[in-house]
Amino acid sequence: MKIERLVIATHNLKKGGEMRTILSRSFPGLEVLTLEDFPGAPEPEETGSTYRENAILKARSACDHTGEWSVADDAGLEIDALNGAPGLYSKRFAGEETPFPEKMRRILEQLCDVPEERRTARFRVWVALAGPDGTLEAVEGVREGRIACEPAGEGGFGYDPIFFLPDLGCTMAQLTADQKHATSHRGMALAKLADLIRRLQKRG
Ligand code: IMP
Repeated sequence: MKIERLVIATHNLKKGGEMRTILSRSFPGLEVLTLEDFPGAPEPEETGSTYRENAILKARSACDHTGEWSVADDAGLEIDALNGAPGLYSKRFAGEETPFPEKMRRILEQLCDVPEERRTARFRVWVALAGPDGTLEAVEGVREGRIACEPAGEGGFGYDPIFFLPDLGCTMAQLTADQKHATSHRGMALAKLADLIRRLQKRG
């Protein structure tokens, strides 16, 4: 089966940029589009009860609308001291329109008495691939870390400035884009997705 074009089903420009960079590197001949190339593409409600369900919902909706192979992800930040919150509700945490500096300030406030060793957290992402032939696949990526005591760094997006990587000694936002791709939950999931696409291509 030949996959010549792939639609990245997100309206989040930074997330879409990360996915485009990683996928274009794995498949130099692939034409990578986004929903911006399909005006009027619906943005489905994230009504699933898991990241996997939400990723599948978004990928299937984009594929049905565009007729093209489509990829979507759903991610969240799970903080152990908050019983896994904000988790599936990471985008809506403290209100969907609330700017990230404020969302992060609220998280740091809730953790103000939590010592370093109990500030463990992870980014989890599920990435789904939907094809016009009915193909539906999903893979997971996880990146363990810790919630910093204050935001640091200008790179990445979302909660990256408060996500400290003990093994690298900095926050996710202090990494270059390439360093983030090499270590992030999304980089891990997209590497698995690239393997999957290679297998599909070979299947003919
Ligand atoms: P969603 O997958 O777009 O629903 O993302 C959930 C929330 O997590 C959004 O607020 C994103 O900004 C945030 N998020 C997703 N991926 C990352 C990441 O790689 N770094 C930091 N925040 C992220």
